[in-house]
Amino acid sequence: MKVHVRKGDNVMVVSGKHKGKKGKVTRVLPDEGRVVVEGVNFVKKHQRPTNKVMQGGVVDKEAAIASSAVMLVCPKCNEPTRLAHKDLEDGRSIRVCSRCGDVVDK
Ligand SMILES: [Zn+2]
Repeated sequence: MKVHVRKGDNVMVVSGKHKGKKGKVTRVLPDEGRVVVEGVNFVKKHQRPTNKVMQGGVVDKEAAIASSAVMLVCPKCNEPTRLAHKDLEDGRSIRVCSRCGDVVDK
């Protein structure tokens, strides 16, 4: 499944129960069409003691949300925006903000 955002992108959640929250994409799960956004959708996970983590207990961890629920936040407008693609002369395709036309990929 194609996910329109990439790791490191700043996004805003535009639908669902986390609507309005902003954060940075820390993981993209293309197979599921989901993304993990820093600080969004914390769930309690019961951690069993392992060799790595000596102490068990409950930890808060971000769970993935549907990528369709997030929109990229343009670094220039500071607003959630749709992305347009622009083909460069050298054949590369870059992402630009459809609002201000600024290049998102630096
Ligand atoms: Zn913009």
